[in-house]
Amino acid sequence: MPASMQGEIHPANYRFKLGGFEVAPIMDSYVLRPGLTPSFGGEAAAADVKALAAANRIDSDRYFHPFTPLLINTGKELVLFDTGNGSLSAEYEQMKGRLPPGQLVARMGLAGYKPEDVDVVVITHGHPDHIGGLTKGGQPVFPNARYVFGAAEFDFWNKGENVREARKFNRELYVKIAVPLANRATMIKPGDTVVPGITAVDAFGHSPGMLAFMIESDGKRMLNWADTAGQYVVSLQRPDLHLDVDDDKEKAAATRKRIFDMVANDGLLVAGFHMMPFPGLGYVERSGGAYRWVPHSYQMNL
Ligand SMILES: [Zn+2]
Repeated sequence: MPASMQGEIHPANYRFKLGGFEVAPIMDSYVLRPGLTPSFGGEAAAADVKALAAANRIDSDRYFHPFTPLLINTGKELVLFDTGNGSLSAEYEQMKGRLPPGQLVARMGLAGYKPEDVDVVVITHGHPDHIGGLTKGGQPVFPNARYVFGAAEFDFWNKGENVREARKFNRELYVKIAVPLANRATMIKPGDTVVPGITAVDAFGHSPGMLAFMIESDGKRMLNWADTAGQYVVSLQRPDLHLDVDDDKEKAAATRKRIFDMVANDGLLVAGFHMMPFPGLGYVERSGGAYRWVPHSYQMNL
């Protein structure tokens, strides 16, 4: 009997040491999205984006879009950045077919973590793929956690003024999922400390108050840039191109350049929620007036 075909398999768990911290990117799920174009830069940039895709040996009609929360054990507290899609697709008709069911909790289990172990849940910004796993059936998924939200981001979604049409349902989700947790949440701004060694960085633009996080232990540093880049080729090589899912497009483009410059100058390791290949870790190099993503291989395993 020939062995049966088993289907694709994708790595979803990874862990390494950063000084005295343990850092574990865990892929919650992924989706194949149609077209790098017109998502990046609209129709006007279609030819450029297609050429860029060809030069980087990726398809321009479909792209692999991972959702990768980040767990950090500081030795004192277990900190989870973002929660993936959770049961959004099962609980909300509008999310069906748009977001796959989240696997974060199951995959955390494979890595040795229970939901009760999480002490702090940090939400980088309020988009569905980041808040979806906060609750299930209205109950908190991480029952012992306190929460950390960006103050500007929380206010934006909570007040609901100036929410663009495409984000109206996102606002509804935020009010249902995140706002009820406010009584157990700390509201922070850029420069504030989450726990010793983890500090918020201004990454406003992709969403009005998105935060990135500098993570430092025993002199080793890395940046969790959340959704500063939406795709590992186009966002880096054409940071000027406006992305359809960026809420403030001009600010998002300016933030990309500012943060890419910072990590390129400092040679910082980066974790990005939508970066490829898994575990979404890498470095940024200056290239041809823009930037290039250099995926992590074994630098953190030596
Ligand atoms: Zn996202």
